Amino acid sequence: MLSGAIACIGFTWIASPACTELEVVMMDWLGKMLELPAEFLACSGGKGGGVIQGTASESTLVALLGAKAKKVKEVKELHPEWDEHTILGKLVGYCSDQAHSSVERAGLLGGVKLRSVQSENHRMRGAALEKAIEQDLAEGLIPFYAVVTLGTTNSCAFDYLDECGPVGNKHNVWIHVDAAYAGSAFICPEYRHLMKGIESADSFNFNPHKWMLVNFDCSAMWLKDPSWVVNAFNVDPLYLKHDMQGSAPDYRHWQIPLGRRFRALKLWFVLRLYGVENLQAHIRRHCNFAKLFGDLCVADSRFELAAEINMGLVCFRLKGSNERNEALLKRINGRGHIHLVPAKIKDVYFLRMAICSRFTQSEDMEYSWKEVSAAADEMEQEQ
Ligand code: PLP
Repeated sequence: MLSGAIACIGFTWIASPACTELEVVMMDWLGKMLELPAEFLACSGGKGGGVIQGTASESTLVALLGAKAKKVKEVKELHPEWDEHTILGKLVGYCSDQAHSSVERAGLLGGVKLRSVQSENHRMRGAALEKAIEQDLAEGLIPFYAVVTLGTTNSCAFDYLDECGPVGNKHNVWIHVDAAYAGSAFICPEYRHLMKGIESADSFNFNPHKWMLVNFDCSAMWLKDPSWVVNAFNVDPLYLKHDMQGSAPDYRHWQIPLGRRFRALKLWFVLRLYGVENLQAHIRRHCNFAKLFGDLCVADSRFELAAEINMGLVCFRLKGSNERNEALLKRINGRGHIHLVPAKIKDVYFLRMAICSRFTQSEDMEYSWKEVSAAADEMEQEQ
């Protein structure tokens, strides 16, 4: 509300110095909460720093555009005889077959090929990424970008960043980490092993608006070397110039739009109101609720888990055909008391219980399970 009322349109640092500077500080606070390597933080005094984007989709696209600009420059230096069109036609990026659709979309928007790498147990492995890169190199293509997902949309699976990151580094491929949902859990030390290898990433993103109690929109992105992104989009008309250019970030160069809202205030309020310990407790509560729902599910012999329970997501299904599960979902959502969203992996359709609300209690898990089981009872009675 305050951000709306202040109504600043932070085109540039000079348009609202507080808007920019609070963002620099908030992104450092948040980065420290996650124990991101110092190279990502502005306070380290190096090149790195964070920015608040609107969504994970924008972060993936911005990182892709930065990676594209970097690779084009490198290849031009090696092959001055190649024109830009030839180079762009050879660029290829990678993501797992479980990556969010926004990654494919970033490839379409960025005008480059993206290749999907087959996951193993829903997780991308370094060896599979390396094989794809080597195949493409052998065909004369130019690998430039790979998205590692920590917490996939379908089943909250975690790619092996500790394997994929070094492969990217070895082949000079930009590693972008998409932790849109699950990244909030990294404020808890016990989940940080899932981001092992983070030091090998070039950019990292998660959405505090998904699971860290910040209102939409607030997508936190850190870059080790923002200059690739800054230079990729740099336009400098007279009406946006100011005397302090170069001494404070002008976030307009880090994002697609020009104008920006005072989103750092939302982060400031949440961090100050809750504090780290209460935010950690919120994450842990949700993870425990998911286990509780999972226990209720496996205690009913008609049901099975469709994936390991990770974070606040339970993937489950009625034993049997996809059609049975499609009918179950229709019935659950049709009853109008809870709402579930399905997914399909390797042609197996399942339902997803995603716990998101600040107000969720353990009774809500029991209530939700009763809804699921009542819908299954109804189906049985009709058979
Ligand atoms: N990446 C992952 C892993 C997601 O789960 C999602 C959305 O659910 C996205 C990206 C896209 O998020 P956004 O709506 O912030 O673009």
